[in-house]
Amino acid sequence: MPELPEMEAWRRALDGPVSAFPIEKAGPAHIATLKTFDPPLAALEGRRLTGAERRAKRLLFPTEDGELILLVHLMTAGRLRYLKTGEKGPKIPAFRLRFEGGAELVLTEAGSKKRAGVWLLTPEAAAAELEHIGPEANELTVDQLAEILASDSRRLHSLLRDQRQIAGIGRAWANEILHAAKLSPYTLTRDVGGEEVERLCSAIKDELTRGLELRERGANDKKTYRIHKKLGEPCHVCGAPIAQVDFEEHTIFYCPQCQTGGRVLKDRRLSRLLR
Ligand SMILES: [Zn+2]
Repeated sequence: MPELPEMEAWRRALDGPVSAFPIEKAGPAHIATLKTFDPPLAALEGRRLTGAERRAKRLLFPTEDGELILLVHLMTAGRLRYLKTGEKGPKIPAFRLRFEGGAELVLTEAGSKKRAGVWLLTPEAAAAELEHIGPEANELTVDQLAEILASDSRRLHSLLRDQRQIAGIGRAWANEILHAAKLSPYTLTRDVGGEEVERLCSAIKDELTRGLELRERGANDKKTYRIHKKLGEPCHVCGAPIAQVDFEEHTIFYCPQCQTGGRVLKDRRLSRLLR
């Protein structure tokens, strides 16, 4: 799933192009993709976007007149593409915006399940939609992070991915960040103290910055991640093989040498217990 670095790289790439021309045609949209019906998509036609903004893993495209905001959430498999005039795109995208002059912004989603979403909202409705989201991960201060950690008693990997607490981190970057901070994914949030909070805060900033720089240069997952999905590969810090453990319906990757004092983490998936 695209997380903060991936979404921010896309935001930067789309910011100029989407504001270059007014919208000529909004839609069609797949019935499962378009989440709102009032105002209708056609309300966008003839208006110009100011550019691309981002909140957590969502992209926002406000209109120049300040009346409407197009919000896009790609979920796991959604992808946005900007097609220059005449450039070939997908035959039936999940959503399409055509600009005057012929360029297009298209949303595609691999697989049969349509989970990505498009909302057309008034600024008030957009604010309500985004209200529950926590502070942006890359802007967190040490004090803010300490407060969030103390407010919740759960495993660190799970907290980092909770968008209501911290916005923008998912499975992949939680793995990268916890490795950089030399903290176990299973550490309880309330046990993270003093110097560890500072280390975690720097790791969040450093890793998300590293990710954004790589993604802006077009780096793929294999080049970007050093821990995520690297089972058995040598840790780039200590050389020990990267390990994995199943947790909450997905897989955590970590270095036992750097993060858990050599201990191997036990599977904590609920489904495993129910089998
Ligand atoms: Zn290591």
